[in-house]
Amino acid sequence: MSRLRFAFLYFFLCACAFAQTPGQETAKYFDSIRTSPPLLEAFLREMPKGGDLHNHLSGAVYAESYIQYAIHDNLCVTQALAFTSAPCAETSVPAASALTNAVLYRELLDALSMRDFHAFSQAGLSESGEDHFFATFGRFGMVSRVHTGEMLAEVASRAGRQNESYLELTLGLDRLSAAIGTKVGWDEDFDRMRQKLTAAGIDAAIPQTRKALDDAETEKNRLLHCDGSARADPGCKVTIRYIHEVYRGTPKEQVFAEIMTGFALAKADHRYVAINPVMPEDGLTSMSDYDLHMRMFDYFHKLYPDVHLTEHAGELAPGLVPPEGLRLHIREAVEVGHAQRIGHGVDVMEEDRPIELLREMAEKHVAVEICLTSNDLILGVSGDRHPFPVYRKFGVPVVIATDDEGVSRSDMTHEYLRAVQGYALTYSDLKKLVRDSIDYSFAEPQVKEQLGRDLNSRFAQFESIYGTELRNPGANTKGTKDTKENR
Ligand SMILES: [Zn+2]
Repeated sequence: MSRLRFAFLYFFLCACAFAQTPGQETAKYFDSIRTSPPLLEAFLREMPKGGDLHNHLSGAVYAESYIQYAIHDNLCVTQALAFTSAPCAETSVPAASALTNAVLYRELLDALSMRDFHAFSQAGLSESGEDHFFATFGRFGMVSRVHTGEMLAEVASRAGRQNESYLELTLGLDRLSAAIGTKVGWDEDFDRMRQKLTAAGIDAAIPQTRKALDDAETEKNRLLHCDGSARADPGCKVTIRYIHEVYRGTPKEQVFAEIMTGFALAKADHRYVAINPVMPEDGLTSMSDYDLHMRMFDYFHKLYPDVHLTEHAGELAPGLVPPEGLRLHIREAVEVGHAQRIGHGVDVMEEDRPIELLREMAEKHVAVEICLTSNDLILGVSGDRHPFPVYRKFGVPVVIATDDEGVSRSDMTHEYLRAVQGYALTYSDLKKLVRDSIDYSFAEPQVKEQLGRDLNSRFAQFESIYGTELRNPGANTKGTKDTKENR
């Protein structure tokens, strides 16, 4: 080999060794902006974010929309800033008056969300973050029950515009099971209880709930122009699956009936992928019936072993309940309730033998849905006190989720922003979190595969833009625009 050819080959090999992939270049750019929240936010907004696996539909809608629904429905607003039916009583006013009364409009936004919330405590009167957070659901309940299609449209559109490709929405469209449970009454014998509910006609809840979902999806598709045309909203490209919610704060015969319908629904309709107990975990009934609820899940899991379960567990903090109440919820959800994912898991280090539990969760691949803003607002747990880094240290899969982005006045971008700022995540950490949000979803296998391929191409496009940003600042403006249009 001539000296010249050798030199050329040497140069070529060195260049290859030092050439960086678009992913590595993007990681370098990410490191260069991590101390600039505005640049970081822009980066994270464009970044593919995979799925949001813990998202309550009614909590995801912003208060501004709820006010519009109430006006459309000719509802009234009570002195406690809750929506109520017409005619307005002496102490209530038409919701429409909020349009001409700026003070009422502002007060309604604050009452229906965590906007401007400040905890207070004075003689005979107090409100914590948790009190205010959960009280919002009661205030907008009259409209959130009847505008499902519009709510789906809002949430899907917001997800699509942030480069999310998948949503698992927790919602309650079953209007029959709880009433049949109440009619039948409680029976300690689960087999007998199930037979009584069947005899009372609980099976009718399945077609009724599916019809409600059909109608809501049709309305969502209409509102977002999901007809394959150029005017289709980015939300049309978001794959949506649903989680049937069970109200754990209600009497046990209702909970049993709702769980029973949830399992049957997931079996009958591919869009329903799992069941999840909701409502404040520290509530009186949630706490006293926790073990019973887990046994109900165990019972139905044996009848329907293929139905997935994600369970709110450990959405607690010291002081909220007695220390004994913090010791076993997550473990019981995993070991008795067959939870494949845990919602929140904030109090994990208060559990009995926490290290053993973390290892068990890692071994069983039980993922934890991390909702940083929600945990801060409801539980006051954030920063170093949050177990997010502990789960990661022990190899427990974690995903970033919003919980209730409307009530929290947040979105997925800001959840990732919190994660990056609070826990010094690298770009490679972010990609792993995003990848896990698809891998630990409950989508059908072929859908999950498709979402995985789609995620690869979204990252390739994203990195082709941000990978040149350090060498050629600003050149990505057109690319960013293209990214949006191509979604
Ligand atoms: Zn939740």
